[in-house]
Amino acid sequence: MSELRDVRDLYQDMILEHCKNPRNFHALPEANHKVEGYNPLCGDHFTVYLQIENDVVKDISFEGSGCAISKAAASMMTTSVKGKTKGEARDLFTRFQRLVTQQVKEAGDELGMGKLIVFSGVSEFPVRVKCATLPWHSLLAALEEKAETVSTE
Ligand code: ZN
Repeated sequence: MSELRDVRDLYQDMILEHCKNPRNFHALPEANHKVEGYNPLCGDHFTVYLQIENDVVKDISFEGSGCAISKAAASMMTTSVKGKTKGEARDLFTRFQRLVTQQVKEAGDELGMGKLIVFSGVSEFPVRVKCATLPWHSLLAALEEKAETVSTE
């Protein structure tokens, strides 16, 4: 039981660390895709920038403000999808969404998710799921080149 709590604390530390020192937290002049994401329920508001070349996420960054969960999720998303193909990024989005909504897990879901696993605890707080997935919805919209803004509501 205490071991489980330790693991949770560790996860929380990592989320707080990414919130304090977000990675790739800047505008991206070379971006060829840009999507703004809002979560009115919490007040999270981020812009995700993508530089796609030959179907690969060559660079990714974000700007904006929001709660610790959303900011850390955006930060860790950028480090996770940089260098991946669009298909791999979409696949990661799907698995991340399953992780935080605790839908039926498919075998091997956790494989290759790396540090994103820290967000598994979010599934216990349904109101926070939108915070964690907001950056990912923005990413997906950018990959699909469909919308320039997304909202969780
Ligand atoms: Zn939030």
